[in-house]
Amino acid sequence: QVLNQYLQLKGNIRVFCRIRPTINGEKFSHLKPVVPLDSSGILLNLTENKTKLYNFDKVFHPTSSQDEVFSEIEPVIKSALDGYNVCILAYGQTGTGKTFTMEGNEDFPGVVPRTIEALFKQATDSNHTYLFSFSMLEIYLGHLKDLLIPHARKTSDPMPPCLSIQTDPNGGIVIDNLVAIQVSNFNHAISLYRLGSQLRSTASTNSNKASSRSHCMIRMSMTCCDDTERRKITNKIWMVDLGGSERVLKTKAWGRRFEEGKAINLSLSALGDVINALQKKNSHIPYRNSKLTQVLKDSLGEDSKTLMLIHVSPKEDDLCETVCSLNFALRLR
Ligand code: ADP
Ligand code: MG
Repeated sequence: QVLNQYLQLKGNIRVFCRIRPTINGEKFSHLKPVVPLDSSGILLNLTENKTKLYNFDKVFHPTSSQDEVFSEIEPVIKSALDGYNVCILAYGQTGTGKTFTMEGNEDFPGVVPRTIEALFKQATDSNHTYLFSFSMLEIYLGHLKDLLIPHARKTSDPMPPCLSIQTDPNGGIVIDNLVAIQVSNFNHAISLYRLGSQLRSTASTNSNKASSRSHCMIRMSMTCCDDTERRKITNKIWMVDLGGSERVLKTKAWGRRFEEGKAINLSLSALGDVINALQKKNSHIPYRNSKLTQVLKDSLGEDSKTLMLIHVSPKEDDLCETVCSLNFALRLR
């Protein structure tokens, strides 16, 4: 209760920055581009004598642990169980740690497994009864692809139907034909998550890490089903590992890679436009400009909670992209 009031005071959108630690003996020149100031600001060294200050709801330093990151996420899990739609998004250039934050690894589990674990735990501790279901999809070149279909489908079944985005009479978003598997415990949900992740990575081996040029979206839906409630309420948490934000024109990509990059760039700027319009309380919110914002329409906005995790590289070589990511973040607050 107290946490939710706190979140309400802070508004529906919170923006965090996570600075990746240096890995594999990366070396830097004397001019360190990203300097964490304190828990909510970073200073960017643009040139020897020009700096720029960026403020966030919270900055995670290179030494910050997965625990510290999750402690800022945890309050919205309660919100989700209370009926809010929630959206947790990892944004940043490829290689800055989006997948590390969201998925993590065996030793350092990330936001997705921790959120699922916390959902089951808090649901068990509450007086209500919840039903959970798990879905996982990818948006690649503007198309929605179900990452659970091959596992849910028998070989004798016809080809999977196309996913399409529909609006229900209450304004909720429904993804037609998206597989949603009812899960009753952590292990079941995680095994589906692993299967979905495998499908994503096998598909990407031939095409030079195409996974960085698609958005990976995990949805935990929950229905509160108490006898006393006349109407069942279903809401959801989206956990999204966004495609790499590096600008395609700078990467000298061509052919399919250019198209992939362009699709990602367009949908990321559409996402920025939507959040910016929401923050400014504009009457028109441009959800229709990308599949990403169409899917998230009922989870980005007034009755929902959004957490954006902006990831940046500590490297000087990446300064241009770091400036872009931080400027993207500026428009969200
Ligand atoms: P992205 O998904 O943004 O492309 P990754 O999550 O794959 O980036 O991270 C790139 C590399 O950096 C991986 O080897 C990852 O394990 C490592 N890494 C990223 N962030 C951290 C962190 N906070 N602590 C330790 N290693 C990290
Ligand atoms: Mg990744």
